Amino acid sequence: MASLDFSSDKPRDVGSIGSLDLHALVDETSLGIRTKDGLYEVKDWEFGQVANEADDAVSQALNTTNRPPAEKPSATSLGGLGSVLARLTGSKVLTQEDLRPVLEDMKQHLMKKNVAKEIAEKICEGVEESLVGKRVGGFQSASHAFIGVRHYLMALIATNATVRQALSTSITRILTPKTSTDLLLSIRSKLSSPLSSTQLRLPYTIAFVGVNGVGKSTNLSKVCFWLIQNGLRVLIAACDTFRSGAVEQLRVHVRNLSMLGINGATDGKGRVELYERGYGKDAAGIAKEAIAFARDNDFDIVLIDTAGRMQDNEPLMRALAKLVSVNNPDKIIFVGEALVGNEAVDQLSKFDRALRDFSGLSGIGKGRGVDGMLVTKWDIVDDKVGAALSMTYVTGQPILFVGTGQTYTDLRQLRVANVVQAILSD
Ligand code: GDP
Repeated sequence: MASLDFSSDKPRDVGSIGSLDLHALVDETSLGIRTKDGLYEVKDWEFGQVANEADDAVSQALNTTNRPPAEKPSATSLGGLGSVLARLTGSKVLTQEDLRPVLEDMKQHLMKKNVAKEIAEKICEGVEESLVGKRVGGFQSASHAFIGVRHYLMALIATNATVRQALSTSITRILTPKTSTDLLLSIRSKLSSPLSSTQLRLPYTIAFVGVNGVGKSTNLSKVCFWLIQNGLRVLIAACDTFRSGAVEQLRVHVRNLSMLGINGATDGKGRVELYERGYGKDAAGIAKEAIAFARDNDFDIVLIDTAGRMQDNEPLMRALAKLVSVNNPDKIIFVGEALVGNEAVDQLSKFDRALRDFSGLSGIGKGRGVDGMLVTKWDIVDDKVGAALSMTYVTGQPILFVGTGQTYTDLRQLRVANVVQAILSD
């Protein structure tokens, strides 16, 4: 039990835990990392394949200039994409004509990785624009009778590398966040901003939004676990007043989370509590009350769980926008599944649009959209991580976390290079 106390100072009485299986709640192998400053950071998501075979093939071939290749590199050594790119051999200057079949296959490749069709097309257009007119390979003509096999192959590989590089650059640009992904920094800077003697500190507030069943409350709880490991006091506001069982589900999470480290609190106060007012009430009002309660009771953070709703349901989207405009949360995190491909884009873009359109109407807040995404069920998609690309493409906002399972430690951060590698892999 002591090993399950992840707080830095651990006076705790574990006798009262009863029959709860804490080992099922935390996967110790996937615990985050404690930095030198004592911060608890969730791990990075790593793409399983260690080396990108295609890149290896290119660099090997380009570096062994004194040694003729033993044999023609097979299509598979360049990857599925490489075999298609091989058709380009022979072009001195790339034309639209040369690129058409290659880009069609590139589009299919992206869609196989779960990138939404429309976005795969836009990416391919961008790659085409960057390559038409480009001279590749530095060779004269592949059909020229005097070109040796080795020279031919070098040109082929250089061409492939050029096209592949253009795709990699394009994907990297889309995935690279334009705003900070350092949520802890944002929280700490709000909590340490100066106050006048009469002011009470307002907590940092995060609203979790999305459709039903995507993993909102589970992943809100994982974020809560990460926050309490960082010594913060969290109030979870049960604002799904609609779906029966939603409040009870959060109560279970709060009970579990309480047992996983709250006793590290040196001030005798719990690290996590639930604020709930049952069902059928106005969610915006409950969130407001919860924020006031948190302010008056020294909570650092309020995590607002909202009811899942379909993106096309205007009355429910208006109600969500009201919650946003009344409470003006510091962050609105859209929770979406990695599984759904095009559907993820439709959900996200409609949530973003509805929040922008409706949250400005009350005159209290300015219309604002989604600030970042949490992509769940990432563990199920293997290398088909295209939803990450689609989601960052439609909002320009970062993926703050991905959910990789059902325990509280199954939360990861994304590194752009790892996602690019997974998308380019065969
Ligand atoms: P909500 O309706 O959006 O609040 O969804 P829940 O949090 O109730 O989650 C729905 C289901 O998805 C539950 O069975 C969760 O255990 C599961 N789930 C949530 N996140 C993940 C994840 O990252 N990976 C996997 N494999 N399952 C998840």
